[in-house]
Amino acid sequence: MTQSFDALILGGGAAGLMCAIEAGKRGRRVAVLEHADRLGKKILISGGGRCNFTNLHCQPENFLSANPHFAKSALSRYTPTDFIALVEKHRIPYHEKTLGQLFCDHSARDILSMLEAECNSASVNIFLNAKIQQVERTTEFVVRTPAEEFRAAALVVATGGLSIPKIGATSFGYELAKQFHLAIRDPWPGLVPLVFNEEDSSRYRDLAGVSAEIIASCGPHQFREKMLITHRGLSGPAILQISSYWKKPNLILIDLAPAREITTAFRDTKIPRTLTSLRSEMRKFLPHRLADRWLDLHAPTSWTNHALADFETQLHAWSISPAGTEGYEKAEVTAGGIDTDELSAKTMESRKVPGLFFIGEVVDVTGHLGGFNFQWAWASGAAAGREL
Ligand SMILES: Cc1cc2nc3c(=O)[nH]c(=O)nc-3n(C[C@H](O)[C@H](O)[C@H](O)COP(=O)(O)OP(=O)(O)OC[C@H]3O[C@@H](n4cnc5c(N)ncnc54)[C@H](O)[C@@H]3O)c2cc1C
Repeated sequence: MTQSFDALILGGGAAGLMCAIEAGKRGRRVAVLEHADRLGKKILISGGGRCNFTNLHCQPENFLSANPHFAKSALSRYTPTDFIALVEKHRIPYHEKTLGQLFCDHSARDILSMLEAECNSASVNIFLNAKIQQVERTTEFVVRTPAEEFRAAALVVATGGLSIPKIGATSFGYELAKQFHLAIRDPWPGLVPLVFNEEDSSRYRDLAGVSAEIIASCGPHQFREKMLITHRGLSGPAILQISSYWKKPNLILIDLAPAREITTAFRDTKIPRTLTSLRSEMRKFLPHRLADRWLDLHAPTSWTNHALADFETQLHAWSISPAGTEGYEKAEVTAGGIDTDELSAKTMESRKVPGLFFIGEVVDVTGHLGGFNFQWAWASGAAAGREL
């Protein structure tokens, strides 16, 4: 059976649904083809089940892309305020957790139900379990599943990145881009825990569960947030953030004592220059187990001012050379993707293939942790939806 629409949207996640709503509201006949048995699975697991759906302080600087200017247009035309207005229209209770991050009070399900209700009122056609076998471009786009054929003048690819394959992530979007000869920036896992190299593993893995506020940096990028030691390496917001910028064999530097000078006190002769007093100084800001382990491994070689200065330097620049990351199984996002040079920043339409659009995570625009990835999904989805 053949069905015709104005636009076909492949992928019923955050970006695809927003795109469908915007186009549907404008009277376009749109179909969302989703290969899973339900929409928005990633929305449901996001933000620990509470969906950090946007960030009040969303700026272009919160995104990684080979072209840092690309996201500006879409982000400025669909802002956090726009999404909050939608959330409030649906009377979804929410709160700011920290750093402008907005979460549902109850459940991420509220956000998905809201999007489904909006799709419904915009008369969006949803096809679940749509196993796409072939995409072809004749005078229009033709998408074939085992049972059906869909036709439309516009095709929007919203199939997301490679993160969390067990809930349905596929490389479909990248393969489709290749089919149409569009360039891709090699994808890599972002917002992902790091795995210790062997030496660090034997030194620190038994501290699993210990966390501390630190500054993690990689090149010019740095994040001051919590770090968590795990059985396999490092995690926590600061590490997830910096992981998006890390590639082997680069080093990650960790400042274990942000904005503190702990050895200054020792210049005061009243404080004895002993391990005991240094330990008690360190325990004032680091969990005891981490402070003790650091001293076991990095105690000053002597008590001269010079040796204390070296100790201080090391404490602010713990140099980590990860063996790797936990990969797409654990990554919250996929960095890299469809090269933004291929797309119009205003509409997300391919420059080479008129009528073909890419939105959301499949594009080489990746947000920091904190609601920015959804904001990009909403903004890029809206940008394309208004053009269909
Ligand atoms: C555990 C976790 C927690 C997260 N928490 C947050 C958070 O709190 N805040 C935040 O901003 N971001 C969060 N993210 C990131 C955010 O979920 C994504 O960036 C966002 O969902 C991307 O939207 P998208 O529509 O581009 O892709 P997705 O939401 O991944 O949607 C893609 C859709 O396409 C479908 N699909 C894939 N392949 C095919 C195919 N071949 N045919 C048809 N359909 C296909 C998928 O099943 C899916 O429904 C989290 C991610 C994870 C993994």
